[in-house]
Amino acid sequence: MPRIKPQPGILDIELYVGGSSSVEGVSDVVKLSSNENPFGSSDVVKQTHAKTGHALHRYPNTDHASLRAAIAEVHKLDAERIICGVGSDEVLQFVTQAYAGVGDEVVYTEHGFSMYPILARMVGATPVKVAERERIVDVDAILAACTKKTKIVFIANPANPTGTMIGTAEVARLADGLPEGAILVHDGAYTEYVEGHDGGAALVESRDNVVMTRTFSKIYGLGGLRVGWGYAPKEIIDVLNRLRQPFNLSTVQLTVAEAAVRDQAWVEKCRSENTRLRAWLAEALAELGVPSDTSTANFILARFADQEEAEACDDYLKSQGIIVRRVAGYGLPNCLRITVGDEAGCRRVAHAIGQFKDGAR
Ligand SMILES: *Cc1c(COP(=O)(O)O)cnc(C)c1O
Repeated sequence: MPRIKPQPGILDIELYVGGSSSVEGVSDVVKLSSNENPFGSSDVVKQTHAKTGHALHRYPNTDHASLRAAIAEVHKLDAERIICGVGSDEVLQFVTQAYAGVGDEVVYTEHGFSMYPILARMVGATPVKVAERERIVDVDAILAACTKKTKIVFIANPANPTGTMIGTAEVARLADGLPEGAILVHDGAYTEYVEGHDGGAALVESRDNVVMTRTFSKIYGLGGLRVGWGYAPKEIIDVLNRLRQPFNLSTVQLTVAEAAVRDQAWVEKCRSENTRLRAWLAEALAELGVPSDTSTANFILARFADQEEAEACDDYLKSQGIIVRRVAGYGLPNCLRITVGDEAGCRRVAHAIGQFKDGAR
């Protein structure tokens, strides 16, 4: 036995694998592997960022009051119930650290986001994976899997990597059916891609056991900035704030994120472009014999005949400088997740898949 060993669960963590961003020997690469906004961030955001080089010797605010007020104003929420983190991943981590530990169970679904089991193991809890129904979150299956030990249930809605969604009434039924003391985390990383959706905010306000998380990494085009936020009952926010380091977000992160949330015109433009290009891409792939579920997010889960075909297609795309995401690790070996790019990116990936289907290897 080694004398020095980490806490239970930590050695069971499989390291998160991000989407790759380069192909050896190819310079004109299109990256469709990490659900990033192909249009980047808005001009206002870039200008704000360029101006943040001053006063970097000062510590940032610890209470994030100005960013929380901006989020609250834009989304008509209560600023007192908002917490900001280093990406929404950090907010998910706060919730897990605060409410689950050794001997507890953390429930997630078959094709759920790979951070959920990682977070469970981080705190020594047991991740419990529940089957989905044809790549859609199955509320009855989740409720059946819950026990007295269940402390957290994670769902992403829209879900990643399936792109499917369940309705608010179903989410409410899930929240209301959870065991006493268990929390539903409604991960809204892709909420902004769904016209008129509140990400679960109303459920947070009407219940004591729902937490919503949101991010600046996706539609705001700020994956590199690392800012996310959560919305939860005040009692939960008070708990999470005790785990949050006082200076978890830098002055640059706070200032740029605030400019981004105030620029909803950019969000609307990106949402409508995504909706248009997503429909085009799904249709183009379907015509090539590559079906997908109707996506509600900024990616498409393309289904191939089997794992061999999916991998051969991925290899071919890579040879053409197109990077998409293999999702065998999500229990979807015959699929590739393709982020909706800009018009040129969508045309390029559809064209290459067409060539692949025509026998190019
Ligand atoms: C991208 C993504 C996130 C966001 O992570 P950040 O830490 O905010 O960058 C969260 N949940 C899901 C399901 C995602 O796909």
